[in-house]
Amino acid sequence: MARLLITGGAGFIGSHTCVVLLEAGHNLLVLDNFSNSSPVALERLKSILNLNDRDSASRLQVFQGDVRDIDLLEKIFEKSELQSSPIEAVIHFAGLKAVEESVHDPLGYWDVNVSGSRTLLEVMDKHDCKTLVFSSSATLYGYPDIVPIPESAPINPINPYGASKAAVEMMLADVAGCLKDRGIKQASTTGWRIARLRYFNPVGAHPSGCIGEDPNGVPNNLFPYVSQVAIGRRGTLQVFGSDWPTSDGTGIRDYIHVMDLAEGHKCALDALVGSGPQLLTLNLGSGVGSSVLEVIRAFETASGREVPYKIVERRPGDAAITVADPTLAYKCLGWRTRRGLNEICRDGWAWQFANPNGYKGEVA
Ligand code: NAD
Ligand code: UDP
Repeated sequence: MARLLITGGAGFIGSHTCVVLLEAGHNLLVLDNFSNSSPVALERLKSILNLNDRDSASRLQVFQGDVRDIDLLEKIFEKSELQSSPIEAVIHFAGLKAVEESVHDPLGYWDVNVSGSRTLLEVMDKHDCKTLVFSSSATLYGYPDIVPIPESAPINPINPYGASKAAVEMMLADVAGCLKDRGIKQASTTGWRIARLRYFNPVGAHPSGCIGEDPNGVPNNLFPYVSQVAIGRRGTLQVFGSDWPTSDGTGIRDYIHVMDLAEGHKCALDALVGSGPQLLTLNLGSGVGSSVLEVIRAFETASGREVPYKIVERRPGDAAITVADPTLAYKCLGWRTRRGLNEICRDGWAWQFANPNGYKGEVA
């Protein structure tokens, strides 16, 4: 049982990871500026876990603020030390993640994603908190030459969002003293224990239907779009291309249930805490690819609703197939995904059905 700081803990992946970590007995401090999330998500955690007011005051403390705010970070670390319960590790989710937005606002992305990470690392270092799990992304691989993609594939970001993740990965390698940055599991010479987790396509929701993905505005990603079409919030899904070199001509991705992903974070944390200083670099994916048409069909079956779609031009910047080679995560963490496309659609639909407008309109 440890005290952990979770930046971006109110967001999609962060909130689901909080459930897993609280269930494992950890005490959490969540730092979030709610720029892309709602405090309601954190309230819902309490009901999922049956935390009463007294439990939740000690087990889930929430700080509203920015990860670039060094004074606030200092206060959070100092307060924990004064309570004789210093922060032992950080899971760093806070960041911006919309590819297209990053093209229009590259400096904003470098500021939040890179400067935010740098500020966090500085404060962690000062307080001798040297265990970090970082949210990286498969977007680093750009247009992959080899599929399934191993961690040793070239890093080739094709947009500012991907470049910001690549920059943080390099910064973390430097901090860990790993100058020859090729290995998957390298000894750290500086005392740091760091996991760089490269997520593939996180989707689905907690099976309770209480928390889930709640994008602002029109969703850019396939799953929330399909889900909003099924619930009637949007008319027709646009399928971006049917002439890709794939089995049915539509793009293939490695969709990972967000609860599997959340469990992957717990395993990564356990692996870091349970061994010496190291830098781990791991794909978190299922190793299974699904096409856009397969997703539509699975969602229709899970929801009992029709998902009307039309085929349109390819979306600029898309790759045909992106699927993880997840072998190393299993070797290093003993972790692999347990839920498939049907569970993803079932749980995603339970969330959408119970919350047709997401968290909007509800006050924490
Ligand atoms: P999300 O937007 O739901 O969560 C990010 C959280 O960080 C939000 O709660 C947001 O309010 C908060 N935040 C943003 N900027 C902040 C700042 N300056 N200070 C404090 N809090 C801030 O996104 P998510 O899908 O949960 O992603 C979490 C992390 O995983 C991100 O770093 C993202 O880049 C990475 N990632 C996501 C995906 C994906 O497809 N969802 C894939 C690969 C990697
Ligand atoms: N996609 C689509 N219509 C949409 C959104 C996405 O056809 O409205 C396709 C996209 O071309 C890709 C797949 O769905 O083949 C997954 O896209 P998403 O944006 O969810 O993930 P990413 O491409 O970032 O991996």
